Amino acid sequence: MAALTAKTAPVSGTVRPVLPQLVPGSTCVRCDVCCRFPDVDSALRPYFTGGEIARAVAGGVDERAFPDRGGSQIMLVPDQQGEGFHCPAFDSRTSTCRIYERRPLDCQLYPLAMMWNAAHDRVVLGWDVKCPFMREQQADSIRGHADRVLELLRRPEVIGEIAEHPRLIGRFQEDVVALTPLTDITAALTDRWGPYPLRRLSLEDLPRLTAALDRAGLGGERSLAACSAAYHYVWNGLLAYWWADIQGAVCLFIQSPDGWFMPLPPLTGGGVEGPVAEAFALMRRWNGERPVSRIENVPAPLADRLAAAGYRMTSKEPDYLYRAADVAALAGDRYKSQRALCNRVERSGAVVEPYRPADRAECRALFGEWRRQKHAEGLEAFAALLLEDAISVHEVVWSRGSELGLAGSVLRLDGRIRAYTFGYRLAPRTWCVLLEVADRTTPGSAQFLFRHTCRTALNGGAEFINTMDDSGLSGLRLSKQAYHPSMLIHNAICTGTACA
Ligand code: SF4
Repeated sequence: MAALTAKTAPVSGTVRPVLPQLVPGSTCVRCDVCCRFPDVDSALRPYFTGGEIARAVAGGVDERAFPDRGGSQIMLVPDQQGEGFHCPAFDSRTSTCRIYERRPLDCQLYPLAMMWNAAHDRVVLGWDVKCPFMREQQADSIRGHADRVLELLRRPEVIGEIAEHPRLIGRFQEDVVALTPLTDITAALTDRWGPYPLRRLSLEDLPRLTAALDRAGLGGERSLAACSAAYHYVWNGLLAYWWADIQGAVCLFIQSPDGWFMPLPPLTGGGVEGPVAEAFALMRRWNGERPVSRIENVPAPLADRLAAAGYRMTSKEPDYLYRAADVAALAGDRYKSQRALCNRVERSGAVVEPYRPADRAECRALFGEWRRQKHAEGLEAFAALLLEDAISVHEVVWSRGSELGLAGSVLRLDGRIRAYTFGYRLAPRTWCVLLEVADRTTPGSAQFLFRHTCRTALNGGAEFINTMDDSGLSGLRLSKQAYHPSMLIHNAICTGTACA
């Protein structure tokens, strides 16, 4: 996956009136619902527009909390006292917001919220019964407050701002009681983004995505690592993934700081040319003049088909595919150095165990150490960007691994975790290594864990191991080539037709 969180220049914005707070502050400080989240990728993290980000940063929030300075959900930080996460603007000692006067519209509205209705064809204003204060209120007092909020939401400049930031509208939630439809906002969103309902990718969507991948025939032992729902979902804490049903095809989109693109071709069991043409028309509409519209991770047969239909195709770094038996054995001269390192770790008494949620804090500490080690060794600029993006991915993997069908292992030496890895079954006979972290001061820990992964996969019926691409990094390319891949899986990017 490319580094997608390039930071753009701050965006200024108009300052709209701050909404009055409905819930008394004395109630809020005793409650633990707001500003804290059980998961790092929570869909309920507040969304900040570009102007709100600029104001939050001026108020002291670290700019790295915003993956896209034009507008993004805030990146959460682990709670030092508990298991979950909280907004970086939240002061957990005083249970207050450090940027209260500058907090975004999303927070000002709460415990009211804008969301899609269950049919996803209308935006509504609702009240969230998760807020304990709301449960004690009379409907009249809630409606009185809602009327004041509606005054703001009817202003043309506010409607325009909301239409530019569709992530301000949450998914339908059963515990948010709909109060009134927001007709003008619904119309403005349709006008801006088109007739196909766009939905943020959530965990609930993964079975649909997996079924669509199967239907599209993109699976198989030599398929790209990207042909997996988990591969994409792990980026969801950092990136804005969306999907839409276009002409019967499930189409996945990423809204990046540079613009919109597709991380996979339209997924359909039928003809793909119609959905591809429609998806490009939508991306051009959303991206304007920016030349970012593209479809990534197009496998070879489909790339040939699209090229024959007049689309421009360029090659992307291929995935590395190994025979599991080769790496499980590490036999012969060509694996001499890896074998020696594995023997060294074996003699030291290292053990490999399945990852458990209780390992999360130790894995997080190891990740921090590993990151320091890599920076100290010197990194290519692009590698440094990837490393910064990686922490959010690892957080999702540590906390959501089992829900995503990932299997993790940790390598312990003298009781301490010195390496960890996670992967998934990409196809009945292919295991994919999603990520691996190994202490650089424990030689052989990476090699030992990789061999262990291949042995486990082999015993589980896998014939192949896919280790994804090398992101164009020379060091990574060398280390992947050192394991002698049995094949490189072709990967292509489609950038539209020559006349588009
Ligand atoms: S910005 Fe303030 S009010 Fe909003 S979630 Fe963060 S701490 Fe809470």
